Amino acid sequence: MIIILCAPSGSGKSTMVRHLLETHPDKYELSISATTRAPRGQEQYGKEYYFISRDEFEQHINNKDFIEYEQVYEGLYYGTLKSEIERIQSAGRTIVFDIDVKGGLNLKKIFKDEALSLFIAPPSIEELSRRLHGRGDTSEEMIEKRLAKAEIEMADAPYFDKIIINDDLSKAKEDLDREIANWTK
Ligand code: ADP
Ligand code: 5GP
Repeated sequence: MIIILCAPSGSGKSTMVRHLLETHPDKYELSISATTRAPRGQEQYGKEYYFISRDEFEQHINNKDFIEYEQVYEGLYYGTLKSEIERIQSAGRTIVFDIDVKGGLNLKKIFKDEALSLFIAPPSIEELSRRLHGRGDTSEEMIEKRLAKAEIEMADAPYFDKIIINDDLSKAKEDLDREIANWTK
């Protein structure tokens, strides 16, 4: 089974992923993407991302090592290495993807019924802005870019298998658990 979680940045996707990994540490494993962006705060190579140079990223593109990749923000690339999927599947675990909306829809097309695609929506753009500011690890310029992108991404929500509105956090976690349970029935 494959779980694809997508959301505008700041909607609580990482919080949801953490919930899944903490409640079922032996079952789920996060697909770690490669990116050309610099680590934020305490982020570490191989934990949140494989932080690599632009040259290395382009090398992987040329070698067809990615199942999908996107220039998620201007000049910043993110991609899922095929080797990452093989690593998790050979360990017999359920892959959890934390990926942008376009990438998520592409993966759903590839994995079809093997994958459950979930869109985590913020209650409003105003609340999204509050959360991004509250996280305190992103520049004002990047916050503005993420908010502009969020408005576009919200339009793709109906193309996902399910939408989870992350207003009250505990309710959103319950909704997530329920959707996964229903889907695996
Ligand atoms: P994303 O991974 O989508 O960028 P995060 O999980 O980092 O988002 O959440 C963005 C910020 O909002 C974090 O500071 C997080 O603690 C906070 N947050 C997440 N869900 C909620 C919620 N339901 N209510 C209030 N704050 C939330
Ligand atoms: P951040 O810089 O906040 O960690 O992530 C920015 C965006 O890139 C998020 O929406 C995240 O889900 C997305 N992202 C992370 N990894 C990948 C990936 O491998 N492919 C795609 N298409 N998007 C990704």
